[in-house]
Amino acid sequence: MKKHYLLTPGPTPVPPEVALKEALPIIHHRTSEFGAIFKDVSEGLKYVFRTQNDVFITSSSGTGTMESAVVNLLSAGDEVIVATSGNFGDRWIKICEVYGVIVHSISVEWGKAVSSIEIEKVLKANPKVKAVYTTFTETSTGVVNDIKAIGEVVSKTSAVLVVDAISGLVGQEFHMDDWKVDVTVSGSQKGFMLAPGLAFVALSPKAWGLVEESKLPKFYFDYKKYKKSLITSETPFTPPVSLIVALQEAIRMIKEHTIEQVWADCRLLAKASRAGMKAIGLELFAENPCDVVTSAKVPEDIGGKIVKILREKYGVSIAGGQGAVKGKIIRFAHMGYIGKADILVGFSCLEMVLKELGYKLELGKSVAAVQEVLLNN
Ligand SMILES: *Cc1c(COP(=O)(O)O)cnc(C)c1O
Repeated sequence: MKKHYLLTPGPTPVPPEVALKEALPIIHHRTSEFGAIFKDVSEGLKYVFRTQNDVFITSSSGTGTMESAVVNLLSAGDEVIVATSGNFGDRWIKICEVYGVIVHSISVEWGKAVSSIEIEKVLKANPKVKAVYTTFTETSTGVVNDIKAIGEVVSKTSAVLVVDAISGLVGQEFHMDDWKVDVTVSGSQKGFMLAPGLAFVALSPKAWGLVEESKLPKFYFDYKKYKKSLITSETPFTPPVSLIVALQEAIRMIKEHTIEQVWADCRLLAKASRAGMKAIGLELFAENPCDVVTSAKVPEDIGGKIVKILREKYGVSIAGGQGAVKGKIIRFAHMGYIGKADILVGFSCLEMVLKELGYKLELGKSVAAVQEVLLNN
């Protein structure tokens, strides 16, 4: 028998309280019973997003809601800026290009954050730009982008700011309204401690202005349908009932703990994880590291093997690098239902795998470094 520890930046572990709700008998989605749950969940999402705007729930993984945030705001031939710092930022470019949207891309080297000053320059040079698409926590590199600073810049123009907060929401401090974000998209399987399958999107009144003009084709993800249905606490089509019932429990847990405390918890785990990496000589990959995932460089000759051996021998799942940094970095998640003890287990097993692969280290060093941070904060 092998016990499994899921320390990947999505999907993340689901608490038993939430998993049990996913197992309840299905209720019909056009009933007052479901409506009451849906209403509660919709209000709860506003608390998590830190917004007064409506938050819509759609059924898809995160990428589906990213696509919806393109087709609902734009028309073919429209100009946008995509500020990307990694694989998920690049996804905005790919989606826009599929729909004939003209992209002015601002790409930074992986491991670095996008600059609001650069965005300001490109906005000035391209006054027809209708939207700026970017990423909050870039899961592929472990970087956090300064959305507050970007919001300052974009809000002074007619363009709207669209933020992929799929991995960042819940775990990393985020304020949709105060930071002047016009569209925030997120998903269920990261900080929300839920199974994959739900996506969320919130829009400011400024963003609704673009929705009114948008001509790109859409049917299932047409925001106007979701807005209309929300009035009666429904979704336009059959929702993943079980996931929404479970989401109510997850939000209840977040509220009970308070979102501020969840942020603080992730911040501490991030600090401990960074100390753990450094203690065994692994250099951090992100220049501006986020609170939900820690990335570190690993020697290229063993880089491709670490993740597989960790999972097969110890049941510990972490993530390797994607795209250009495949085999060059490892990524440890500390969001959602990942706690202090999980981090200790992760580092302890990582050390054994590194040692087995011939990497020079003194056993226990990273564990001790993590312990020090956890004890002293
Ligand atoms: C996980 C993730 C996504 C979406 O991935 P899906 O597999 O479609 O859920 C998008 N952006 C970021 C930053 C992510 O971490």
